[in-house]
Amino acid sequence: MAAAEDDPLPPMPRSKKSMLEAARTAIEDARAARVAGEHRAGVAHAQRALGWAQEAGHQGLCAAALSVLALNEYRLGDCGSAVSHCQQALPLLRRTKDAAERTQVLCTLVMAHNEMGLRTDALNYATQAIESARQANDPSLMSWALNRAGLTYEELGDPRRGEPLMAHALEIAREVQGHEEMFSALNNLCSNLLHACKLQEGEQRTASLERAIAYGMEALGLAEASGNAHREAVTLSNLANAHVMLGDFDRAEPYIDRQEALATANGYRSMLLLASLNRAELARYRGQWSESAQRYEQVLAEADETDNHDALLEIHQGLYAAYKQLGDFKTALHHLETVLPLEREHLRQRADRQAQLLLNRIEIENMQAAADRARTEADAQRLRATELESENRRLADRAVELGRHAMEDQLTGLANRRRVEHELPQQLEAARLRQTPLCLAAIDLDHFKQVNDHWGHAVGDDVLRAVAQLLVAHTRGTDLVARLGGEEFIVVLGGTPLAMAREVCERLRQAVASHDWQPLGAGLKVTISVGLCAAEAASSMRDLMERADALLYAAKRGGRNRVESRYESQPAG
Ligand code: GH3
Ligand code: MG
Ligand code: MG
Repeated sequence: MAAAEDDPLPPMPRSKKSMLEAARTAIEDARAARVAGEHRAGVAHAQRALGWAQEAGHQGLCAAALSVLALNEYRLGDCGSAVSHCQQALPLLRRTKDAAERTQVLCTLVMAHNEMGLRTDALNYATQAIESARQANDPSLMSWALNRAGLTYEELGDPRRGEPLMAHALEIAREVQGHEEMFSALNNLCSNLLHACKLQEGEQRTASLERAIAYGMEALGLAEASGNAHREAVTLSNLANAHVMLGDFDRAEPYIDRQEALATANGYRSMLLLASLNRAELARYRGQWSESAQRYEQVLAEADETDNHDALLEIHQGLYAAYKQLGDFKTALHHLETVLPLEREHLRQRADRQAQLLLNRIEIENMQAAADRARTEADAQRLRATELESENRRLADRAVELGRHAMEDQLTGLANRRRVEHELPQQLEAARLRQTPLCLAAIDLDHFKQVNDHWGHAVGDDVLRAVAQLLVAHTRGTDLVARLGGEEFIVVLGGTPLAMAREVCERLRQAVASHDWQPLGAGLKVTISVGLCAAEAASSMRDLMERADALLYAAKRGGRNRVESRYESQPAG
């Protein structure tokens, strides 16, 4: 047997991909170890697989690792751990496509619960396993599920209800030629009938035993063909029992011989014990009381040592019967008296294990509830965070838009009055500090009312947009061109002395006047009047604008389509 603990551990995989690969390999190893009967190695492989699958956060692989871990643990007799790992796996296997793995897990749960004497739970899991196998649409799994359900009825003390389930399992196994499934169904049918016949008499009993032998013989053929010595020995033992019970002692003996030989050759300790028990039983049925007592005494020590409860019970009962027949009533009574506390101790141990199982189940359920809660909370928080994020983005976009709208004239896209009020004082302050000139031109369209009246408001708007473009086109990018409202514009000419500003304004005036307005309206003519002034040392925005306005009206009064800059002024400072 290859003990995995002695093998050097493979290095811890680093990337998620290699971790998943390692988990998959370890699961395969655990499955192979299970088939080879190397359950300790199987547990070690499965635990490693589970660690990696958890690290990589892969639910499907976690479930597969838990499933094969539980199966190996069950085979090692650690039913508590097996059940606990199965119950961790089940919630990970809720989807339809997980039905196959779920069936496996449910079958392990059936076996482990039966082993622990929790038959009602076992039956419940068996029902789920059959349903799950149907979902998986997998005949092999269906055969196993039916087989396990049949075993559960047998365990419940109702072997007659177990038989048709096992027979159905066998039928399906035959159809798909599943040798494992066939062997298991045949072997279980055989031992189920051996169990059933203890509750029967006469012809019915004989018929059951003959059926048991027929199933046993077929099972033996399969075991021999597959070269599986342990299965062969198990079948031989059943066949020996059946012949003993039929009173066909001479045919029973060679089976026991072969069972014993296989057990010895392969080192199957408990199988050897079983062979000895079969021999003692054979002597008992033959009425060879002294030999029977002797043989039972021989195996008593071994059974005691391995704490094999079923064997111990059988031995003490056999010894009681033998010594009674031999007239040694004192010794007979001793063995009878041993049986009772043995039963009691067995029941106590089983109750302990059941209680522990219940505690484990509660713990797992609590853990799962906590995990579900945490997941729901995390989901809610993630959702809330996403909502907040997009809300923030929306607000930020809106703020940018509002900011732009707040500072921008909707019709022309120029700066608006608010922007002027925000920037002009800053430019004035900068000009004062740097002692650079700054001029302000107030611009108003001439007789604009007539444009609206004659060509319509829409054309009026087009004219406003066109004038805006002309103003921008004929000034520098650093000049601030704004629409204050209506058909009134301003241009702030930073770093520009009045003489130069006058040239700029003149250019603007000409640009508007000479523009081809005909596309907008036949006979349309547009001109502007400009009031231009320079900032003085202590100019505030307000008085600068008032002066420009006054000059604008002077230009209007002077005949329109002209630039007025009567007040000469010095650079700011
Ligand atoms: P003046 O030469 O004396 O400035 O004469 P005017 O007709 O231009 O002067 P007034 O201030 O009386 O008329 C301005 C007109 O501008 C009145 C209004 O209908 C028009 N107006 C103001 N804002 C807009 C606008 O956004 N679009 C259009 N199409 N017209 C506007
Ligand atoms: Mg006007
Ligand atoms: Mg006006």
